[in-house]
Amino acid sequence: MDLTFSPREEQFRGELRAWLADNIPPAWREPGFWGTVPEDEAFELRRDWERRKYEAGFGGIQWPVEYGGRGGTPGMKAIYDEEMALARAPLSANGLGLTFLAPTVMAVGTEEQKREIIAPMLRNEVIWCQGFSEPDAGSDLAVLRTTGVRVGDEFIVNGQKIWTTNARYGDRLFALVRTEPGSKAHHGLSLLLIDMHQPGVEARPLRQMSGASEFGEVFLTDARVKVSDCLGGVGNGWKTAMLLLSFERGASGISQYATFRRGYDEIVSAARRLGRHTDPVLRAELARRLVELECLRYHALHVLTKVEQGQDLGAESSITKLQWSESYQKLFEVFDDLLGLDGVVEAPVPDLDLRLLQHEAFWTRSVTIWGGSSQVQRNIVAERVLGLPR
Ligand SMILES: Cc1cc2nc3c(=O)[nH]c(=O)nc-3n(C[C@H](O)[C@H](O)[C@H](O)COP(=O)(O)OP(=O)(O)OC[C@H]3O[C@@H](n4cnc5c(N)ncnc54)[C@H](O)[C@@H]3O)c2cc1C
Repeated sequence: MDLTFSPREEQFRGELRAWLADNIPPAWREPGFWGTVPEDEAFELRRDWERRKYEAGFGGIQWPVEYGGRGGTPGMKAIYDEEMALARAPLSANGLGLTFLAPTVMAVGTEEQKREIIAPMLRNEVIWCQGFSEPDAGSDLAVLRTTGVRVGDEFIVNGQKIWTTNARYGDRLFALVRTEPGSKAHHGLSLLLIDMHQPGVEARPLRQMSGASEFGEVFLTDARVKVSDCLGGVGNGWKTAMLLLSFERGASGISQYATFRRGYDEIVSAARRLGRHTDPVLRAELARRLVELECLRYHALHVLTKVEQGQDLGAESSITKLQWSESYQKLFEVFDDLLGLDGVVEAPVPDLDLRLLQHEAFWTRSVTIWGGSSQVQRNIVAERVLGLPR
């Protein structure tokens, strides 16, 4: 495992850190800020800020220059992820596109797809959504029922997707669709890139317990997709989707560590303000969480070393997913214990702004579900990494 970054990478860190210091408005770093801005306005602020960051040279860090990227190393991307978390930079408006779709396009896309997709995504001109889950197809994704019937050089798509993050802001949907009539399970599927601004596509928001509607349902009724907008080849959808999921599950543990470590420090600070910092049970629990976070950091550096050596993570990305999601969730269970039932009411402690931590505590309930639940990740690790019998 290599624990160091090169001088060129450290120089990049300095430039990025300076740009972030000058370009994140101080109000945006306040704990409650994003909760005070209406959801649509917040999305537009993030979209515009991210575009400006890209124009300043801090987007598409590891993508080739010819496709609009910066041409950097995996180490620079890891530094970028870490600095973004440390600076409390706004969340990406195009996270599903940038983190999952872009590396898949770079790996299996045609030359035309690379040119058409990467740069507009980096400029946030096209916001991407992921259309995998359906009302009766989640963990068992291969039973999905959305169909694409080929007519000439198009597919006519019918069906329904659900839990589609950013559905109301989406411009295009990368969707897993059954394109071979009569096919079963993971055979006969294709990954289609669907224009969401056409009469056959309707996105309806779903309201969450936090009050936000960051995801929704997408109804497809005779939606049209050109055959050339199939990623990874017609009938190869399962293989392409599994590659895409390995990027989703293996997402940078280094940025996760920086984000969770900040959450940890804020929980400790809240415990002090509430006079609970001397409670031996709480202290022991916090110590356990800290050890887990440090393990996550070393695992992230181990993964980064493998990526830098050009090794494919494949099913091992499920180990990363399990480790970061469960560490994160358990960390916020300490916060839940700290506040007890007060954790679900607004402003539970006078003079102490806990909105961000409360929001994060809600959010962490979902992290062991999306991208494949913990149970499913354990099955994958058992069967495909450890080679245990089914
Ligand atoms: C915040 C959030 C954002 C999301 N965003 C998107 C998105 O943008 N696009 C998208 O396509 N989907 C998205 N999803 C959906 C997500 O991928 C699914 O929720 C997930 O795959 C689980 O599917 P399910 O909800 O249908 O649960 P189910 O598959 O019905 O699972 C229910 C329970 O059974 C367990 N289970 C199922 N099968 C097994 C098994 N074989 N062995 C052991 N246990 C099992 C599961 O672990 C789970 O606990 C999102 C979900 C969340 C929570």
